[in-house]
Amino acid sequence: MTRTNWAGNLTYQARDLHRAADIAQVQEIVAGARKLRVLGSRHSFSAIADCSDAQLSLEQMNRVIALDAGASRVRVEGGIRYGDLAPALQARGLALANLASLPHISVVGAAATATHGSGSETGNLATAVTAMDIVNASGDVVRLSREADGDSFAGAAVGLGALGPVVGLTLEVEPTYDVRQTVYAGLSHDVLATEFEAIFASAKSVSVFTDWRGPDANALWRKERVTSDTPAPLSEAFGATAARHAMHPLPGGAAGDCTEQLGRAGPWHERLPHFRMEFTPSNGAEIQAEFFVPREEAARAIAALRPHGERLAPILMISEIRTIAGDDLWLSPAHRGPQVAFHFTFHRDWEAIRAVLPAIEASLAPFGALPHWGKVTTMAPDRIARHFPRLEAFRDLARSFDPEGKFRNDFLDRMVFGTA
Ligand SMILES: Cc1cc2nc3c(=O)[nH]c(=O)nc-3n(C[C@H](O)[C@H](O)[C@H](O)COP(=O)(O)OP(=O)(O)OC[C@H]3O[C@@H](n4cnc5c(N)ncnc54)[C@H](O)[C@@H]3O)c2cc1C
Repeated sequence: MTRTNWAGNLTYQARDLHRAADIAQVQEIVAGARKLRVLGSRHSFSAIADCSDAQLSLEQMNRVIALDAGASRVRVEGGIRYGDLAPALQARGLALANLASLPHISVVGAAATATHGSGSETGNLATAVTAMDIVNASGDVVRLSREADGDSFAGAAVGLGALGPVVGLTLEVEPTYDVRQTVYAGLSHDVLATEFEAIFASAKSVSVFTDWRGPDANALWRKERVTSDTPAPLSEAFGATAARHAMHPLPGGAAGDCTEQLGRAGPWHERLPHFRMEFTPSNGAEIQAEFFVPREEAARAIAALRPHGERLAPILMISEIRTIAGDDLWLSPAHRGPQVAFHFTFHRDWEAIRAVLPAIEASLAPFGALPHWGKVTTMAPDRIARHFPRLEAFRDLARSFDPEGKFRNDFLDRMVFGTA
């Protein structure tokens, strides 16, 4: 039976799909495997999770193992999704610092590719990880923690699945908080460029959606952290006007699929993602690309992208602009400092996308653009490698877990090891 990723743009080559319900089963499967890649919730558009031989799903390992509110830590199994974890945290009065656009993705899969939400002061989702239990190629469980293993932990956190199955993960949590979400229409592209920092610092999490055409962006989404005495939401922000009805990021999309807007406060996990957990898209019929640029280049990068609007129109559903705080994780694009991310949701037409991506990448190249590990790119691996000074150290770390390359696939050989 053929199996595909969530969006259906990729048919997995792996012949076998193993399933494990506990650590002992993972160890047994690893011991018997020739080549093996762990499959998360299949949301990557790149071939990062594919394998020439076998994949392993930890879907059944989806429990919260331990919650220590005093230490601000939660320990989870390696297959849990944010949509399962977040309500469990909320029920105990706890929260995560941020979430991505949808709650359906797995926590380990998100960390493995430096998946992010938006927030000028908030790191990507891997920055919440404080410890990982990894089954190495010999089948032994190795624990790495931020406290005990500093440097190699910083290498493993955005691990691209190269070190072996992550069977347990510890995350930093904080007391729960409320967020309200307001969407504004009529933000001009000129104001976006000139007031970029102020716009993105104006709320906990800010997204700008645009098709790059015309004088105005499509929408400004502000997700503000609130308490009971926070004043009412602004009816105007940066020259844009608060919408009177709920909106979808895609023009004409069903707003009912989105988390609550109109400035109504609610728990963090029901506002930070754009989409509701109950809304499960049957099929994405889309392909995503995303490029990270150091934040000080935001205005120049926006100016470089605007001329692409008309050419992109036939294949672009929407672009989203977000910010991410700097971090110290070797394979995170934000190891260079604060980033702005330019995201593109395209119709699922790879040939048409392949024809326009090089031009977008060339326009962003002067600013040191890096692609998202889980999305598509036509950038040459050596150009990407140049921006990761700890890449050789990462290769050594991966070899120490997996000397024979059991967990390597074509994607890693090409993008990380430079051997394909
Ligand atoms: C509709 C949609 C919306 C998205 N929104 C965002 C967004 O807001 N922000 C953003 O940054 N990205 C976003 N993405 C991209 C997505 O978050 C990443 O591709 C992410 O890696 C997907 O996680 P996954 O669990 O589906 O992992 P998969 O795609 O299945 O795998 C990704 C990587 O994680 C590894 N992996 C997974 N689980 C384990 C494990 N237990 N042990 C070891 N390795 C493991 C895999 O081997 C692989 O290398 C979106 C994607 C889609 C389809």
